[in-house]
Amino acid sequence: MVGIVIVSHSYRIAEGVAELAREMGGPDVRLETAGGLDTQEHPIGTDAVLVMQAIERAWSDDGVLVLMDLGSAVLSAEMALDLMPEGARAGVLLCEAPLVEGAVAATVTAKMGGSLEAVAAEARGGLAGKIAHLGAPVPEPAAPGSAVPGGIGEEALTLRLTIRNPHGLHARPAARFVQTASGFDAKIEVRNLTSGRGPADAASLNAVATLGAAVGHEIEVAAAGPQAAEAIHAIRALAARNFDETVEAGAPAPVEAPSAAPAQGVVRGFAASPGIAIGAVRRCHVPPLEIGRDDADDPDAEAAALETATAATVVAVQHQREAVAARAGETEAAIFDAHLLFLRDEALLAPARHAIHEEGRSAARAWSDSIDRTAAMWDGLEDEYLRARAADLRSVGAQVLARLLGVEPPQPRIDAAGVLVAADLTPADTAGLDPALVLGIATAHGGPTSHAAVLARALGIPAVVGLGGATLELEEGSTVAVDGRSGELYVDPSSADVARLESEAIALAEARAIAREGAHGSAVTRDGVAVEIAANVGGPAEVPAAVEAGADGIGLFRTEFLFMGRDRMPDEEEQEAAYRAAALALAGRPLLIRTLDAGADKPLPYLGQAREENPFLGVRGVRLGLERPEILETQLRAILRVAADHPVRVMFPMVTTRDELRGARKVLDRARAAADAPLEVGIMVEVPAAALTAGALAAEVDFFSIGTNDLTQYTLAADRGNEHVAGLTDALHPGVLALIRATVDGARLHGRWVGVCGELAADAAATPLLLGLGVRELSMSAPAIAAVKQAVRATDTGEAAALADRALDCATAGEVRALLGGLIRP
Ligand code: PEP
Ligand code: MG
Repeated sequence: MVGIVIVSHSYRIAEGVAELAREMGGPDVRLETAGGLDTQEHPIGTDAVLVMQAIERAWSDDGVLVLMDLGSAVLSAEMALDLMPEGARAGVLLCEAPLVEGAVAATVTAKMGGSLEAVAAEARGGLAGKIAHLGAPVPEPAAPGSAVPGGIGEEALTLRLTIRNPHGLHARPAARFVQTASGFDAKIEVRNLTSGRGPADAASLNAVATLGAAVGHEIEVAAAGPQAAEAIHAIRALAARNFDETVEAGAPAPVEAPSAAPAQGVVRGFAASPGIAIGAVRRCHVPPLEIGRDDADDPDAEAAALETATAATVVAVQHQREAVAARAGETEAAIFDAHLLFLRDEALLAPARHAIHEEGRSAARAWSDSIDRTAAMWDGLEDEYLRARAADLRSVGAQVLARLLGVEPPQPRIDAAGVLVAADLTPADTAGLDPALVLGIATAHGGPTSHAAVLARALGIPAVVGLGGATLELEEGSTVAVDGRSGELYVDPSSADVARLESEAIALAEARAIAREGAHGSAVTRDGVAVEIAANVGGPAEVPAAVEAGADGIGLFRTEFLFMGRDRMPDEEEQEAAYRAAALALAGRPLLIRTLDAGADKPLPYLGQAREENPFLGVRGVRLGLERPEILETQLRAILRVAADHPVRVMFPMVTTRDELRGARKVLDRARAAADAPLEVGIMVEVPAAALTAGALAAEVDFFSIGTNDLTQYTLAADRGNEHVAGLTDALHPGVLALIRATVDGARLHGRWVGVCGELAADAAATPLLLGLGVRELSMSAPAIAAVKQAVRATDTGEAAALADRALDCATAGEVRALLGGLIRP
């Protein structure tokens, strides 16, 4: 019996349709569903893997018929086929029949033992009864005789629409258009009546978006074929929803896309990394890859390689999409839908295949040329916003190309010195930046303790974050100034502002130079208490600079950066080499390695973690290590091998309960069976529960390191990456200080030491307070070391303890700041 799969955006619709179909076909039909993302938990969305699994469950040697609702259901079903073994694909038919009527008709025919073709034919005819009863719908407005020239014929149904989206039919709304149009059995074309461009194939994102349909432009959609009427209907409904983009209600449609970027003035964001930078606006570009081989002998093998590379990139982009949707919401993630459409766009793929088969080109050369040609079309558009989408196309194109060439995808970079302006930077993006070119960073989104901000500080690059979306409209090459102390961005600064900022930058540099002179001595308080001042790093390459800046050791090696920006996990040898390189560069100073802290805003796509509603409260840090103990054990073995020859400490991130700590220690014991070595073992205290049960945890560790970035976000219930609550995420809040005190009290019960490795440790104004609370190790980005050592030397721990008591009596972070302001010595 032919199997049937129902694919819908909605879990409930899929189940409902299946229930109805079973009513007709009986309980023993092979009927499976793939609705929503992962059943009841995420009832809306589509997922290729779920579709593939449903096909497997419905599998029959007679074949499987797949019925889908619209848009990404179709894409996911196609992708599910790509994921299946080649031999199995031939037995699966994706059918364009209407979902409900088709499912009912198909089930009955399957039950009667019909062939796959017969079942599909019945499904396609599912609407016949309804059409006969009601009569075929008459689409309007159908301008008679307005066929598209050179297009789809006299009988086409047409629809005229005026674009109201501020940026026109740019990548995102165009993607919605293409997704909708692709859901029907109809040939659909679009023309831009205002500019005269087109007709363009509605199934091609590149073709639709490069029509240059700006706000106020009139477009004409023409459709022909069995489902032309339904398609026109759906496109009209989509246009009425402004292509699913938020357009300000009641706003008159401007004739030209508005530029919201201020021409001149000061935009206020959040201070993320101190310092001043003045320079030209620069955006990230993807560097070109060396292709090497232009021609090839075996076109079939090249075409297959292209197919595999695009399919693998589709899966990777889907994971990226899920990670961004989980972190920033569906609206932000929608740009990846455009990326997915690029990857399936015949306007890109067909010329590449043609070049492979007809001109003997290698897959890499054919694909690269196709991307270049299409990107050049985008480059030629008048609308600046649309022109900028060429970068999206090149970035997706480069991912496929990298796979074809068997190299890592290239990191985005800027081509000339200036101020990098970006929507947001992932930790991986920031890690790949060249500090020699990136004079400053200005981002539209993100908070001051986001990982991108943390990295900017580590690299010593002045940064301002959370400036708002208008920043993205700033023209490349225009002049801006970043003040990373105040959180201000000066757009086209006046010569007076430039002069003032330059002289302040010189004064800052001089103060830093003076502090650096004392940076290599040890940090001992006025009353003789030694404090270890260490550096935070993301990889061995940063260690020499940290030593140079005066670090007494490494207090936080964020190992997740070794795992990011790549397709697979680094193996034990690779990890050991990285940790050994760091230890060697430290020349006997201690190296504190934190085990993998992935998840939340640092997802690793190749781990295939399930989508989470609240990833910061989900499987991250040690939770992931316990869920995937083989990853943790491999890492611990690599660390132990280095610990055999160097002073190494290890700590587990995000520990919340004693059971988690015990679980992690068990994995460590297993690793020790293979490679035992002396190792101090600690945990990060970044969850209030850990701070409040520090006494119990201290009995089972050698030290604590407080991660004030996460501790603050969890204590104040304010996402560290969200600029809208950045005002709340202040580590000086007395609630956070009370948790630091609780941690120290718990540690003292068992004679353990406590450090701080969150961003608060880098704030020299807070040094006396932290010492007063009992902290004895501070770890920070290297540029802050000199000033913090100075602050330690100026502190008396007795006075500092009294200061800490007063801070704990304060009601607000503001009151604590006022208190510190009175104590800081020049
Ligand atoms: C912290 O949370 O303070 C910390 C140091 O860890 P990360 O910033 O890497 O989350
Ligand atoms: Mg943390």
